[in-house]
Amino acid sequence: MIKTGRKIFYVFSVLVLATLFSGYLLSPPAEGMYPLSEISNLDLTEAGLKIDPKEVYNPDGVSLIDALVKVGGCTGSFVSPDGLIITNHHCAFGSLNRASTTENNYLENGLLAETKEDEIPATGVVCRITESYEDVSEEVLNAADEAETLADRTKLIAEKIREIEARESDLDNSIEAGVSEMFVGKTYILFRYRMIKDVRLVYAPPKSIGNFGGETDNWVWPRHTGDFTFMRAYVAPDGSAAEYSEENVPFNPKKYLKVNPNGVDEGDFLFILGYPARTFRHQPANFLKYQNEYQLPYIQKIYSWMIHALEEIAGDDEALQLEFASTIKSFANVEKNYRGKMLGIRRLELVDKKYEEEKQLAEFIKSKPELAENYSGLFDEINSVYEQKFANAEADLWFGQLFRRSKIMYSARFIVNYAEQLQKDDSERTRSYKEEKLSETITRVSATADDFNPEFEKRLLVKMFCDALKFEGSSKIPAVESKFGGSESKDEIEKFVENLVNMVTAGEENPIMSMVANDPEEIMNSDLEIIKLVMELKEQDDKIEEQLDEFDGAMNTLLADLVEVKRLWNEAAFVPDANRTLRLTYGFVKGYAPADAINYSPITTLDGVIDKALTGNPDYEIPAKLRELYEAKDFGRFYDDKLGGIPTGILYNTDTSGGNSGSPIMDANGNLVGVNFDRAFEATINDFAWDDAYSRSIGVDIRYVLWVTQKIGGAGFLLEEMGVSLK
Ligand code: GLU
Repeated sequence: MIKTGRKIFYVFSVLVLATLFSGYLLSPPAEGMYPLSEISNLDLTEAGLKIDPKEVYNPDGVSLIDALVKVGGCTGSFVSPDGLIITNHHCAFGSLNRASTTENNYLENGLLAETKEDEIPATGVVCRITESYEDVSEEVLNAADEAETLADRTKLIAEKIREIEARESDLDNSIEAGVSEMFVGKTYILFRYRMIKDVRLVYAPPKSIGNFGGETDNWVWPRHTGDFTFMRAYVAPDGSAAEYSEENVPFNPKKYLKVNPNGVDEGDFLFILGYPARTFRHQPANFLKYQNEYQLPYIQKIYSWMIHALEEIAGDDEALQLEFASTIKSFANVEKNYRGKMLGIRRLELVDKKYEEEKQLAEFIKSKPELAENYSGLFDEINSVYEQKFANAEADLWFGQLFRRSKIMYSARFIVNYAEQLQKDDSERTRSYKEEKLSETITRVSATADDFNPEFEKRLLVKMFCDALKFEGSSKIPAVESKFGGSESKDEIEKFVENLVNMVTAGEENPIMSMVANDPEEIMNSDLEIIKLVMELKEQDDKIEEQLDEFDGAMNTLLADLVEVKRLWNEAAFVPDANRTLRLTYGFVKGYAPADAINYSPITTLDGVIDKALTGNPDYEIPAKLRELYEAKDFGRFYDDKLGGIPTGILYNTDTSGGNSGSPIMDANGNLVGVNFDRAFEATINDFAWDDAYSRSIGVDIRYVLWVTQKIGGAGFLLEEMGVSLK
């Protein structure tokens, strides 16, 4: 058994490596998340586009780009002149969760607003539309050059970016400016976004369709998830951005996408516009080593621990299940993605490959005197800068989770920060502690600080303190060691945590947060054990933060050099790493071979939904209505003769990442044929290295979207709004 497994693994590795190695090391990267500035340099017509490329992007006129919208951390597109947006169900999951109660559970049962008056605010969702962009690299880098230390460089860049953003944003906040780093230490682009602050939920299928397959199928092909939701954008009657108000009117976008209800076939050209989150392909080998040895395993393990703890605490309690639903889903999503990445790094031997590539680059530098003069120490410098990061890694990751996941530690750290900051002059304080921002900050922190489950808090804190006692070298946490380092440490920790959580939850008011009423000196001299402990912890954490600023400052120039050397080596320009700015990627509907003797075809059908439901796995539960329609063969106009069913999922070789969730998939004519929502398991490694052998994105076929909306949702009127006839 083991032998067979190894053999499959070996064949897979050799196949994938061969492709990866040739494409990755010897020629320019084949991947592409092209920024707007690069679109006109692409030959999209040659690739298969049938419309004028100017219809895709035209800086001097209206184009498909104008139909794109950033929906929180996801993407969406306008599909009607009345501001109707299509995005993913998982992008609306949080707002559906917040709007749900055990009596009225929109997550479980779906949501349909029959009229505009019935639409429900999608709380927490803000939309942004890219209006224009401009290169501000010179201004940012000039400011950086004033720095006297490396840590200063990081701070000056951040300050300059904030200054530009404040200067370029509209006073009424209809336009928000954002400066994005395209190439670290090299290129900084200012984007102007039109804001939409009133977003409403229009139609969401039940979870058993929108999240069909749950965690079993997440990051996996073949896929049958109806991962879509409709929302609507609203603005004030004068067109400006406004928070929710009954007076608001539907937003009229400059452009909306036409829907192609006939979908795509295997082999068809398609392209995607969207806001992919961060990728890390231009980072050095040490970055991958850090990911592989520290970040990925640490986060994967602790997220997995937190998911189990939350599930155990919720048990059969429906109210708790609902309360934890969004958190568990987002932890599970990252946890599985990181498992995929770790496997990918091992399979592709990616860390070694990167070091090998750098050896070749070093040789290249040596061979050219003009390069040797400037860059001969490049890799030594990168190595020495990373040494400190490796040494602190465990402690840094631990602090990150301790202060984020434990609400008590989060609020205690805030109070200590608050006391420190308030002892300074207003002009010396960090932004959120300045007089003008202070009350807003306190309200925000209080809301988070009071939002926790005491049982989870107890389990988490016991685990975190016990973990910290095991760290070695410069990752040791002296504050925890001196407090709990005795032989009975677990008992001591449990007693301490029990008392702490009981103290915070005993009265009406949170005694930690209520210290904002005290003088800074009183806080600093507080008798509360937790405040004393956090003061000590914070000292170490602040030192690590300062070292990280130094690290970023050093890497800012080193990464700029690295990209420059690679550009000369490859004799080609690079596409910048994804950074949540608008990008285009294109490809074809195409299957792949994930392992020896397995070939995946690229379109799934409703038959697969029914088959999966037969397994009895609760992730594959389906609504009774879906089964009835299937048995009655009530497929409307969406049946595909060639496939013998309603197409549900599609697979294609575009270059996407997180943030591309909800991105419109468009055919050669620029019409909507699906909504992107995921990647195949092997493609989770995309963020570090893309390759046609394994990089596949997954979308929901527009025919399934339309069928579900019409037949299960009973929302034929939305098809009409999108100009799709029902017959
Ligand atoms: N399904 C992914 C996520 O939830 C988004 C799309 C992707 O990363 O390809 O993070």
